[in-house]
Amino acid sequence: MRVNAYAAPAAGEPLVPTTVERRAVGPHDVLIAIEYAGICHSDIHTVNGDWGPQPFPVVPGHEIVGTVTEVGADVSRHAVGDRVGVGCMVSSCGECDSCRRGDEQYCAQGMVGTYAATDRDGTTTQGGYSTHVVVDADYVLSVPDGIDPAQAAPLLCAGITTYAPLRRWGAGPGRKVAVVGLGGLGHMAVKIAHALGAEVTVLSQSLKKQEDGLRLGADAYFATSDPSTFEHLAGTFDLIVNTVSAVIDVDAYLGLLAVDGTLVNVGAPAEPLSLNAMSLISARRSYAGSMIGGIALTQEMLDFCGEHGIGAEVEVIDAAQVNEAYERVLASDVRYRFVIDTATLA
Ligand code: NAP
Ligand code: ZN
Repeated sequence: MRVNAYAAPAAGEPLVPTTVERRAVGPHDVLIAIEYAGICHSDIHTVNGDWGPQPFPVVPGHEIVGTVTEVGADVSRHAVGDRVGVGCMVSSCGECDSCRRGDEQYCAQGMVGTYAATDRDGTTTQGGYSTHVVVDADYVLSVPDGIDPAQAAPLLCAGITTYAPLRRWGAGPGRKVAVVGLGGLGHMAVKIAHALGAEVTVLSQSLKKQEDGLRLGADAYFATSDPSTFEHLAGTFDLIVNTVSAVIDVDAYLGLLAVDGTLVNVGAPAEPLSLNAMSLISARRSYAGSMIGGIALTQEMLDFCGEHGIGAEVEVIDAAQVNEAYERVLASDVRYRFVIDTATLA
């Protein structure tokens, strides 16, 4: 099946309309008519080659929501007409310790990414900036009825990437959580941490988005461009989730953690981050990383968002506006996720 898509032809080049081949629906597969695809900063890192060489052309997109239009003979988990989602992975070995634990994203053989990855059949995966996709049913999530589909799409990456560390490091009542960067991931972290009952502080470059941050559920908002922020908040937080796509001064943020606090990096900048060991030692602090989340946890997150009425704040765009949207994300001018209406690819 050949379907319309938008692809980056080479590293750093603007995306252009194209077509890609989707495999025939196998016994364990689901064919999805895509309705919306979110634009994640990881899409931009990938097409710009920030994380190393990639196979081109690449059709990005790992925040996919659509409707099931065909299922394979062995599929019982999803049915034609269901509203479903696909996130950052479409396969893993299923047998290693990580997979068995439900941490498929840390598969010992490497998870198969939704795009720019080598699939089990040797082909290169192509993502959600497209009208249709065929995915193994085990990697397809159910999207609760109560969430608008355009607002649900970003949950498949930005939602789970922030939900996972917030749950793991115990964001909840009586816990002080800071979110660094109010972009796609950051605004989801604020909404989810607030819904989990934590006291939430946004640490943004400026106060430009303060009103939004407080409306999204933050209790406090500070500008990191103001040096007094780091004096005022020293030793405050139990957990800091860093969503920044660029290099930050790690020591400055570690200094904001209380004794035993943890700074979790989900932001994945092209350049290395460095820190002074004393920033950890002086208050038994931890510095951690976290990558998306397993399939079961992703479903838990979607159900949690359905129960709490949580979706992303989105700006729905036509596929032809994708390059302009990339420029705006790079300029931190996103409120708070661009989502492609894939009907505009028809
Ligand atoms: P985004 O929408 O561009 O948000 C990033 C935010 O970081 C910006 O809105 C901005 O917030 C802040 N920021 C940007 N440049 C900055 C700079 N030079 N200094 C300080 N702050 C800066 O990006 P996203 O889609 O949320 O993704 C964020 C990062 O997470 C990316 O690196 C992405 O690849 C990574 N990611 C990781 C995972 C994972 O599994 N770990 C999953 C998805 C994405 P303010 O304007 O509020 O300061
Ligand atoms: Zn992503």
